[in-house]
Amino acid sequence: MFDKPPVGTAKREHRQRQAKANRAEVQTKQQARTRDGFMCRYPWCGVGNDLVGAHLTHKGIGGDSQQIRTTTQTIITLCSPHHDALDGRLGVSKRFVVERLTSHGADGLLAFSKDGTRFAVETAIGTVVPA
Ligand SMILES: [Zn+2]
Repeated sequence: MFDKPPVGTAKREHRQRQAKANRAEVQTKQQARTRDGFMCRYPWCGVGNDLVGAHLTHKGIGGDSQQIRTTTQTIITLCSPHHDALDGRLGVSKRFVVERLTSHGADGLLAFSKDGTRFAVETAIGTVVPA
C-alpha cells in the first residue's frame, strides 16, 4: 500500500527550499557589496548607505530558486535611487544600461550607457572615466 506523506509536507519542503535560496542570495549580495567597496557602483555616485544588490538581468517571474541568476557576476551594488533607475521605475529618462566589458560580468569591468550612448567606463571596480 502507498503511504501518503503527511498533509503539508510538500508545502513545508517548498518553504525550506525557498528559505535556503533566500539565504544564499543574501550571502551573494553581501559578497558583491564587499567587492564594490560598500559604495554605489553607478559612476560618480559615491553613496555608501541604503545600498541594494541589483540584478543586471532580471530574475524573472518565480524568483531564482536554482540560484543561477544570482551570482556575484550578475549582481552590482547600487544605491536605492540608482536601483530604481536601472529597473526603469523612475521612467525612461532616468533609465541606464550596464554593459559587461569582460566575460566575468560584474566581477569584471563595466560600462554605463543612457539613451544608447555610453557615458562612463570603469578602469577598475569603483573607478570610472568618462566614455
Ligand atoms: Zn547611486
